[in-house]
Formats: sequence, structure tokens, C-alpha cells
Amino acid sequence: MAKNEYDVLIIGTGLAGLFAALNVDPNLKVCLLSKTAVKSTNSMLAQGGIACEYNDDKSLHQKHVDDTMRAESYINDEKAVRFLVENAFETVKKLIELGVRFDIDKHGEFLFTREGGHSTKRILHSGGDATGSNVIEDLNTVVRTRNNIKIHENTMALDLIKVNNKVIGATVLENEDKHYPIFAKKTIIATGGIGSVYGSTTNDLNATGDGIGMAYRAGALIKNMEFVQFHPTALYSEYVTSRQRFLITEAVRGEGAYLLNIEKERFMKKYDPERMELAPRDIVSQAIYREMYDTWTDHVYLDTTHMDPKYLEKRFPTVFEYCKKQGYILGLDLIPVAPAEHFLCGGIQTDLSGRTNIDNLYVAGESAYTGVHGANRLASNSLLECLVFGYYSAKDINETISETEYIHDFHIKELPNYNYNYKPIRKKIGDYMDEHVSIVRNEQGLSLTKNVLDDIEKNLVKYPNLTKYYYETLNMAQTAKLITCSALERKESIGCHLRIN
Ligand SMILES: Cc1cc2nc3c(=O)[nH]c(=O)nc-3n(C[C@H](O)[C@H](O)[C@H](O)COP(=O)(O)OP(=O)(O)OC[C@H]3O[C@@H](n4cnc5c(N)ncnc54)[C@H](O)[C@@H]3O)c2cc1C
Repeated sequence: MAKNEYDVLIIGTGLAGLFAALNVDPNLKVCLLSKTAVKSTNSMLAQGGIACEYNDDKSLHQKHVDDTMRAESYINDEKAVRFLVENAFETVKKLIELGVRFDIDKHGEFLFTREGGHSTKRILHSGGDATGSNVIEDLNTVVRTRNNIKIHENTMALDLIKVNNKVIGATVLENEDKHYPIFAKKTIIATGGIGSVYGSTTNDLNATGDGIGMAYRAGALIKNMEFVQFHPTALYSEYVTSRQRFLITEAVRGEGAYLLNIEKERFMKKYDPERMELAPRDIVSQAIYREMYDTWTDHVYLDTTHMDPKYLEKRFPTVFEYCKKQGYILGLDLIPVAPAEHFLCGGIQTDLSGRTNIDNLYVAGESAYTGVHGANRLASNSLLECLVFGYYSAKDINETISETEYIHDFHIKELPNYNYNYKPIRKKIGDYMDEHVSIVRNEQGLSLTKNVLDDIEKNLVKYPNLTKYYYETLNMAQTAKLITCSALERKESIGCHLRIN
């Protein structure tokens, strides 16, 4: 096999990419691409945990299905949800066999917590609130022992290479200067979320919607882009300049924290008296938006002052330490919080094996629309989705690769290379998305944003430039446009898509 030829190309080293790579037949040659450092992923940031009924009790599985359907306004695909829930136990077991450790009690039994929208305690966690980083550290250790897997860091996939409706690899830019094709019989997009399209997000700044942009340019089907979840409790500070906001996991509310408005009133009783602070995220974020609007402010408070600071420090070491550095002690101080973009529920359409409408192209993780998420996403279902669909993509590849040929019928195009930084364009995209395509939307704002994004996209396409920033900005513009157009088309309010006219 030549230098840049692989059996499988996996774009992304988050949980979906790593788990898929580890489940590809070890006799196949795998290339794993990471746009920057291998651990700069949303998966590393996950705090709460992985939803999983860790037993064979069918009635508990049914409850997990019911909670997921209800939280997502019943417009998700029940078949996909059932597939996710029924494969949770076996898939998480595989993760544990690879050496991942979850928190246990003194009898060696798993500790489970509860999060918004879940009717039982079914969230497995690791290191208290360090689930993502523990899982990713462990999987990276295993990946590095596998001789069939080659990791390319600081290598950005620019475009898929497509010949006769078959994807045969991708063009890449390594360290900002080497531009070359990587050929593969099968390609998996595992590029994660889209947070950087907004002005404030809990996501890693790598999340510029690259997988969505690439797939869109290649003609893949993309669905439900209007459903963008805002997490209710990102730490608020008026001095932060980065788009990225620190997340305070929902599990803090799961353990008993309240939400107060600026007048110190516990307001969730007005919006969801039964589930209160543990209502699904769309309901809580919309309630916070309303309270901020009514009280002329841009944040509310997370109240843990009725809880034991020592317990909070032990249960949530990451959150405790970060808040302390910002001057807030959990258990003693009110913590200012505001909603921020968190998760894309829609994405590139796949079947239950991760296959798309383009031959040999698979998608797993947050960039996929598998049918599991509907108008919202139930907390802690997304890491599970990375595992289940990462595994099934790999399984399908193992079973079908022998029928797939290499195709090299492609010559790379020379492109100009200018040192533009695209900062004003990125800011403009974020400003319009925050103003008109976030928690509350209306026809006029959406149309205005669509026109602005059309112009940005046209100009970017007209003047291609061989830099990481150019491609990221193009992906951001196209992803933002897909979200805006879908939001314009859906006139009703449902889940995290709230239309006021
Ligand atoms: C702060 C935070 C907390 C969360 N907590 C939870 C939780 O407790 N439970 C839960 O279930 N979910 C949680 N989520 C959601 C969950 O973490 C993500 O949905 C999930 O990790 C996505 O995994 P992924 O593998 O799809 O993508 P990621 O983990 O984001 O990985 C994306 C990868 O793609 C690479 N990439 C992107 N573009 C390119 C390109 N063009 N070329 C090459 N590489 C590229 C990146 O470098 C990266 O390696 C949380 C999310 C955040 C942001």
C-alpha cells in the first residue's frame, strides 16, 4: 500500500473517531486525523457522563426510550432510539474492557447519577465530573498500542474526494503547508459539533462544523439543522472574550442545585413545576432566556448554598476548581450562569450503521443525524451515541470492505495561499447567529441572517485560499446557513426551536 493509502480514513479523534478506530478489524490500515492536538475535542470536555442502563432489565430500557422520546418532543426516530438504548449495555461493556474506569462505591458497584429529563439514575461517570477526559485519555493509550492505526495530528481534512457517488478519501492540509490527498476505501466523518458558529459556546474552539461543510459540498443529505441545543448553565462573566464558555454540568442540578433569577426567586416553578431544574434543557434554557429578558440582565444564578461544599468539591472536582479560580466557591456563593450553544441535534443523515447516501462515506458522533435526537437531546445520550454508532460503523466497514476497491482517479488542484485571518467574517457570523438564530427566532431575523450568510458564502467560494482559517470560515458560513434555512422552513415551535413568528 502506498504512503497515503489506507483501508479506513477517520476524520476526528473524539470519542466517536477513537472508538470506531478501535473496533475496525486490526488487519485493516486506519488513518486517524486530528485538526489540531489529538485531545482538543468536545469529548475531552464532557463532564456529566454516559447514559446507560447497565443491566438487561427490559423495563428500564423502555424507560430510557420513553425519556428520550419525551425530551426530544417525539420527533426523533423511535427505532434509532431503541437501537441506542438496547446496545448501550454491550457497547459500554466494550469500553470497560478497553480499560476505561467508571466511578464505583465502596462495594465496587457503579455509581449512577441523574440528569435533566431522566426518570432514573442511569448516568455512569468517571473521576466525578471528569468523564470525558478520563475516557479519552484511556482510549488514546490503547490506540497508541495498535500498529494498524496511524494518527496524523495538526492535519485538517479540507474536502472529501468523490468519484461517481463514491467517497475515495479526502484532501488534507498538514501543518498549514502540506496539501495532499489521503485515499481510503472507507471514510468516517467524526468531526463533532458546530459551537464556533455562535458567539458563545461550551464547545472546543475546533468545533467549526467542518464535517457538515465537507459533507454538504459533497452532496450528502443533511437533516434537522434547526435543532441546536443551548446548555442552560455555562459560567457567565462579562469579561470573557473567547467564544468558549466553561460548562457547569447538569449533574450539579441533578444533585440538588437550584436556579434563581437576579431577584433571587426560584423561577422554574413557573415553567415546569413538576421537573423544576431537571426539566429538559430546551425548557430550562428558554425559561432562563425569559427571566433574563424580564429582569433586564444577561445571567441568572446557580444556587448550591444549601449544599455541603466538601461534598461538592469531592463530587465535582473540575467544576469546583474552575469556579474557585473565578472567585466562586460551590456551596457558599451564588454562581452566575447563562445559556450557551452546546450541541447540534441534527447533522449528516445516516442509517443505523452510520452509512450516508454517498457510497463508502460514514458519519459517527455529533456530526451525524442518526435519528436518535429529535427537537432536543437528552443529557448524556451523546457520548453513548458516539460509542454505539462508532461501533456499528466499524462493524459495517469490517463486513463490507472486501467488496470495496481503491480508486485513485484524482489530481490535487493548486490553490492560492494568502495570509488572511477572516476574523471580521467569523465575528459577523457569530453576531448574526446569536442575535437571530439562537434560543428565540423570528421570520424577519432569520431571513436577514440568511441573506448575510449567502453573501459571505458567495465571496468565500469565489476567492478560495489554501489555509486552515479559510476552510474553517467556509465551513462555519455553510453550517450557519444550513441551520438558518432549516429554522426558516420550520414555522412551528418545538423543542429547542422556538419561533415567535
Ligand atoms: C462542555 C461539554 C460537556 C459535555 N458533557 C457531556 C456529557 O456529560 N455527556 C454526554 O453524553 N455528552 C456531553 N457533551 C457532548 C459530547 O461531549 C459530544 O457530543 C461528543 O463528545 C462529540 O464527540 P465526537 O467524537 O463526535 O466529536 P469531538 O469529540 O468534538 O471530536 C471532534 C474531532 O474532530 C476533529 N476535527 C474536526 N474537524 C476536522 C477536520 N476538518 N479535519 C480533521 N479533524 C477534524 C477534531 O480535531 C476532533 O479531534 C458535552 C459537550 C461539551 C462541549
